[in-house]
Amino acid sequence: MGSIENNLQEVKRRISGAALAAGRPPAAVRLLAVSKTFGADVVRQAHAAGQRAFGENYVQEALEKIQALADLRPGIEWHLIGPLQSNKTRAAAEAFDWVHSVDRLKVAQRLAEQRPAWLPPLQLCLQVNISGEASKSGVLPAEAGALALTVAALPRERVVLRGLMAIPEPAGDFDEQRAPHRALRELLAAVNARGLALDTLSMGMSADLEAAVAEGATILRVGTAIFGGRG
Ligand SMILES: *Cc1c(COP(=O)(O)O)cnc(C)c1O
Repeated sequence: MGSIENNLQEVKRRISGAALAAGRPPAAVRLLAVSKTFGADVVRQAHAAGQRAFGENYVQEALEKIQALADLRPGIEWHLIGPLQSNKTRAAAEAFDWVHSVDRLKVAQRLAEQRPAWLPPLQLCLQVNISGEASKSGVLPAEAGALALTVAALPRERVVLRGLMAIPEPAGDFDEQRAPHRALRELLAAVNARGLALDTLSMGMSADLEAAVAEGATILRVGTAIFGGRG
């Protein structure tokens, strides 16, 4: 692994290459640096290299970093991408800019009630169990439309539904990697056909970001390729 700065450059080069190959403007794809397990000092290095949006999996771990890096506000953005339990919604509503892992109405309702009025609305994605695995969190594809309509109807000054997120099963080659990303893109289109205008597809990680970009990803969540292995 190179330095964080070099790794970020390499990831951006991969994103640009994939976007241009797909006929998409590279600027249509946002890079979320997934900093789980890495300390605030490492996040600060990535920020110094120009990275602005960071993804965290665990609320408690994130709160410590968010506090340690409060001096970087408002030039830093925090995204919760890990499972969110009901008893952590207040902390999440107060500390994050985005939550990608909403998979049931109760969590979205609590986030809407608990988002402080003085903050901009919390941006939400619904996590979809796109590979249909029993063990994975996420709403089933068949239930995503109904949940999206209900979440989108929550007070928009508190929460705004932006789109869908998925963590597909690891797959081998490029064509295999594309299949679940294509399924999420088609699901977004189907949800939007029910009267919504969601603009976000949160999909693609270190190993499959090219396939995700080819299928329309608008936010990539990349950890290992930026920060190295998590041990
Ligand atoms: C850890 C994690 C990532 C980043 O995965 P890498 O393979 O390290 O790029 C992306 N999304 C979620 C939900 C994660 O938990």
